[in-house]
Amino acid sequence: MPTAKTQIPPPPLFLSREKVVEFINPYLKNKGVYLDIAKAFGSPLYVLETDVLARKADQFRAAFSHRLPETAFFYAMKSNNLPHLSGHLLKHGFGLDVSSGVELSVALELGASSIIFSGPGKTIQELALAARHPDRVVILLDSIGEAKRLTSVLEERQTRMPVGLRLNNNPEGLWRKFGVLPEHLLSAFKEIETLGRLDFQGLQFHSSWNLNPDRQTTFIKKLGEILSSMPKQFLDAVKFIDIGGGYWPAQGEWLLSNMPQNYIIDPGVSIDLFAKELSSAIKAHILPLTQCRICFEPGRWICNDAMHILIQVVDCKEKDLVITDAGGNTVGWERYETDYCPVLNLTRPSLSEKKCRILGSLCTPHDVWGYAYFGSGIKENDILMIPAQGAYTYSLRQQFIKPIPRVAVKESSNRYFLLPE
Ligand SMILES: *Cc1c(COP(=O)(O)O)cnc(C)c1O
Repeated sequence: MPTAKTQIPPPPLFLSREKVVEFINPYLKNKGVYLDIAKAFGSPLYVLETDVLARKADQFRAAFSHRLPETAFFYAMKSNNLPHLSGHLLKHGFGLDVSSGVELSVALELGASSIIFSGPGKTIQELALAARHPDRVVILLDSIGEAKRLTSVLEERQTRMPVGLRLNNNPEGLWRKFGVLPEHLLSAFKEIETLGRLDFQGLQFHSSWNLNPDRQTTFIKKLGEILSSMPKQFLDAVKFIDIGGGYWPAQGEWLLSNMPQNYIIDPGVSIDLFAKELSSAIKAHILPLTQCRICFEPGRWICNDAMHILIQVVDCKEKDLVITDAGGNTVGWERYETDYCPVLNLTRPSLSEKKCRILGSLCTPHDVWGYAYFGSGIKENDILMIPAQGAYTYSLRQQFIKPIPRVAVKESSNRYFLLPE
C-alpha cells in the first residue's frame, strides 16, 4: 500500500551564537557614540543613522541597476514614515512610494519629484491631491472603479494623469483585496483607454515577506505568459513594470522559541542573490516582450538597519526582572513576544547573553523588550540598545500611556543632533 504523503513542516533551524555575535559586534564597538547620544538627549530615543541608510540605499540600487538596462527605485514610506528618513533617500536618488494622502502630502512637502501612489481604496480627496501633481505622481490603480473615480476628478480639473495598474499576484485569502486579477488585465486596459484621461504607463505587483526571491520569480514568469497574450498596442504602452518590495534583510527572521535563549532563524539571502535571480527572470520573461523600465519599492530592507532604540533601566526588581523607561508603544505592537532581537547593555557590555526579563513601563503585562540581555550585569540607569529596529516599528508608534520617544539623527561618529518634534 502506498504511504500517504503527509505535509510535515521542516524542523526549525536554530540561530547560532556566531551569527548573533557577528550581528551585535559592530554596535558594541560603537557603543561610545550611542552612550554619548543617550547622555546628550536623554532616554528613550530612536536613533536614525543616516550613513547606514545611505549605504543600504546605494547597495540596493547597485545590485539591480548593474544587472538591468533601466531601473527606478521608490522607498515604501510606510515601513518607516519619519520624514527626515524619506528626505535623506531623496538625496540618494530614490523616489517615494506612498500609500495614503498623508504620506503623499509628506512626499510632496519633501519636494519629491517622482512619487508612486499605490494602495487599495484611495478616497476622492486622496485622488484629488494626486491629480494636482500629474508631473510628480503616478497613480497605481487598484481597480476599474478607482480608474473611474480618478477620471471624474480629472474631468473636473480638465487634466490628465499618468497611471499604472496593480496586478493581483496572490488571489488566495486576504491578499485578494489588492489589484486586478491577471485574467481581467485586457478588459481593464481597454476600459482605462476608453476613459480618456488616463495615460496608461505600466504594471505593478507586490509580494511581502520574501526571505528569498522564489515567489517573485514565479510571478515574473507568469507575468511573461500574461504579457505574451496581450496585444501590441498594450505592450507598446507599457513604460514600466514595478515588481514591488518585500525584500527581507539578509540576516533572516529571528524568532523566540519555547526554550529560553534558543532562537529560531528563518534564513534570508543577500540582496545580490535577489538581484541576480530577479534580473535573470526579468531578462528571460519580460524584456524580450517589452523594453521597459523596471521599478522597485523596497521598504524594510532599506530602513531596518538604519534605526535603533535606546532605553534605560529604571527599576531592577529582581536579578532576572528589570523595568525600563520605554514601553511597547514605542514599536506599536507586542513585537518582542514573538520576534527576537538582542538587547545590548551598552553600559556593561559583554558578548555573553544573560537570562533576564527586560520589560517596559506600560501598565500592561504585554510590554516586553526581551527575555535576555548581552552584558556583564544589569543595574538601574544602564543604557540598553535594541539595534536595527527601523522597519515597521517607528511607523506603528502610538501614544499609549507613555509619550513617544524623540528621534536623534546620527550622521557620523561625531555628528549627531536631536530632530525637532
Ligand atoms: C508595504 C509595501 C511595500 C514595502 O514592503 P517591504 O516589505 O517593507 O519592502 C512596497 N510596495 C507596496 C505596494 C507595499 O504595500
